[in-house]
Amino acid sequence: VLESYFDNAATTPVDRRVVEEMLPYLTDFPGNASSIHSLGRKAHQAVDLARERIATLIGAEDPSQIIFTSGATESNQWVLGNFNPAEVRRSPFEHSSIREFNQEIIGAPKNDLNVQIWINNETGTVFQKPAGKNLVDATQGVGKLPFQVQQCDYVSMSAHKLYGPKGIGALYANTHDLAPLLHGGGQEFGMRSGTLNVPGIVGFGAAAAIGHDEMASNLAQATNLNRTLLAGLGNTTDWQINGGENRSPHILSLSFAGIEGESLLIELDNRGYCCSAGAACSSHNTEPSAVLVAFGVDPAMIRGTIRVSFGKSNTLLATENLAKEISQIVEKLRSLR
Ligand code: PMP
Repeated sequence: VLESYFDNAATTPVDRRVVEEMLPYLTDFPGNASSIHSLGRKAHQAVDLARERIATLIGAEDPSQIIFTSGATESNQWVLGNFNPAEVRRSPFEHSSIREFNQEIIGAPKNDLNVQIWINNETGTVFQKPAGKNLVDATQGVGKLPFQVQQCDYVSMSAHKLYGPKGIGALYANTHDLAPLLHGGGQEFGMRSGTLNVPGIVGFGAAAAIGHDEMASNLAQATNLNRTLLAGLGNTTDWQINGGENRSPHILSLSFAGIEGESLLIELDNRGYCCSAGAACSSHNTEPSAVLVAFGVDPAMIRGTIRVSFGKSNTLLATENLAKEISQIVEKLRSLR
């Protein structure tokens, strides 16, 4: 049923094997991971395993470098909040959780931070790790493309982009040098208090292990689907791919001259295809995408942009059909002008 869901950059469905691993921690093993009785220890062990699996996925030396958060927004802003805003350099291609952060400083401000998104969520563009003290937003790539945390100080991620549950993520921190984000029970090495979301953490760990084991085949599938979609648009005129040459196969930002992207999306939705205008979090915003502007995309083309993002539930047939539908709808919308 999800073969026509092409909005995997907004969020991915939870892998059923992930749900299987989570279920006992919602029912039979409800312990608080801080409790010292057997069910508490059971939960604690499950959290330890998840931390190890995530550390393995991203090549972290020590599992204690993984600190669980509610997701990449929180991870990003925790790091930013520790730095003097005047000393933080952000690229114009960052996710809104970085671009729009403007908050009080947490603790004593640190100096000098370079922030760089690894894979842009709107175009799939792959960026290099910046030099110096850095925060790398790896949310769109972790578990999908090979990634190693070497040369990173902080790395943010969210489980729901790699077939895990929503509302759970992590911050990789090379050393525990951040001021605590939340105070209280002292969970997460005293840096992020609050009762652990054990089922969510277990799900994140399971998703990380599956992402690690099945990365090569999933990557091959996404590459194939990406090529298939582009080949299927071959007869359509006046369109472009945004984001330069070095792109992840999971995301395609496509602009069609002379149409409104919104109209195309609605027509596609009516025919059973879920795509998006760009970042799902900004889809209620009518301003042109700051990221596409930064890429130098012509304003008229920005208006005619959709994002297609591939995942493991998409089939070749659904992708071929999506290309046909896009071509037909674009032609129809142009003829109505
Ligand atoms: N960074 C990037 C690159 C993202 O794509 C997202 C999710 N759209 C986030 C951060 C924020 O993740 P979350 O909404 O799970 O906090």
